[in-house]
Amino acid sequence: MTLADPTTRALTIDDVERLRDDFPILRERVNGHPLAYLDSGATSQRPRAVIDAEVDFALHYNSAVHRGAHTLAAEATDLFENARTTVASFVGVDHDEIVWTSNATEGLNLVAYAMSNASAGRGGEAAERFRLGAGDEIVVTEMEHHANLVPWQELAARTGASLRVIPLTDDGALDLAEAANVIGDRTRLVCFTHVSNVLGTVNPVERLTALAHAAGALVVLDACQSAPHRPLDLRALDVDFAAFSGHKMLGPTGVGVLYGRAELLDALPPFLTGGSMITTVTLDHAEYLPAPQRFEAGTQRVSQAIGLAAAVGYLDAVGLERIHDWEFSLGQRLVTGLADIPGIRVLGPGPGEDRAGLASFVVDDVHAHDVGQYLDELGIAVRVGHHCAQPLHRRYGITATTRASAYLYSTPDEVDAFLNAVADVRPFFGLGR
Ligand code: PLP
Repeated sequence: MTLADPTTRALTIDDVERLRDDFPILRERVNGHPLAYLDSGATSQRPRAVIDAEVDFALHYNSAVHRGAHTLAAEATDLFENARTTVASFVGVDHDEIVWTSNATEGLNLVAYAMSNASAGRGGEAAERFRLGAGDEIVVTEMEHHANLVPWQELAARTGASLRVIPLTDDGALDLAEAANVIGDRTRLVCFTHVSNVLGTVNPVERLTALAHAAGALVVLDACQSAPHRPLDLRALDVDFAAFSGHKMLGPTGVGVLYGRAELLDALPPFLTGGSMITTVTLDHAEYLPAPQRFEAGTQRVSQAIGLAAAVGYLDAVGLERIHDWEFSLGQRLVTGLADIPGIRVLGPGPGEDRAGLASFVVDDVHAHDVGQYLDELGIAVRVGHHCAQPLHRRYGITATTRASAYLYSTPDEVDAFLNAVADVRPFFGLGR
């Protein structure tokens, strides 16, 4: 990392050009053009510091953690647990409140399956507050990624609870008046995303959490699109659980994070069982370790966790506030530019409103897959399809969108190249501008 003055002033294009040197893949050419990577909402690119951290572990420390009596195992365990501390402090919580998972999807499923186990009578008296049954309600929103919807559908199906939905407004916000009606005495769980991966909408976490807690419900936050992009203090937000993925925040694939408030993790029965999560096992019974080990059965993803800690170190060195501001301006450039192109419909909050550095849109009479292919020919990488949010797309009467998503290494020039290319899509397909 080569930034001279990390925390005191806004990122400039010179800073960003310098930090791009840390990301070898950004020098790639695609179809004869310089790569313009505008798909960081799906997965981000890795700086050399992250790649080096994983390689260094493989070269010098590779060993299973928490088991061996030998030096490598002890060193690997220290690195692994230090990585947990780094990630915990990055989101404002304690070391033992962080559970390593494969990705956010697994973290959300972990909570759902653990609650399902509690509902089946596991976990004793301590697990009482996780038990669901007929008459109980789980609240989700219409903008959820399938990862924060399907696990709750399944939990409802397994326990007899029912699912209620906070609807969307036409301009891509949660209908908060309806939220106050949907969340009520029967609500046991409220699950929502901090930032929409399609609309870019930033949800009022404190407000929804206050509603949920007033009703006696637990809150599960999907922080996949916030943890990488803005300062995040989970304790201050007062959520009960939160999940995010390493690969969306400059880290490796194969590692994610589940946060759980300490007293909740302590009371929650396990999801996966087996080695490394027990104290005593007989042929017909097992006693479990406390959290977080109780939720980390089997051999762990050690190099990935260490890589994620390096990613977090990199983000901290640049400064999340500055990253947020940089991306906000790119997001504004994206939505204002797209809004100026005839035949384009942008989803979500309009220019000037708080929104993430991404934009999803429809090109009239051109399928999103054709838009994506056209852009790819020019070296511009975007995501197309339903972005794992079919109900959201259905709400707006469409089946697919094209999404451009920026990160700290994205530049105004890349956004402009993208906008110019999008302006040419309809003419390319023989349609009017
Ligand atoms: N939630 C949101 C808002 C996302 O954007 C994503 C990934 O696209 C996920 C959940 C799922 O993340 P993963 O596939 O890494 O588990």
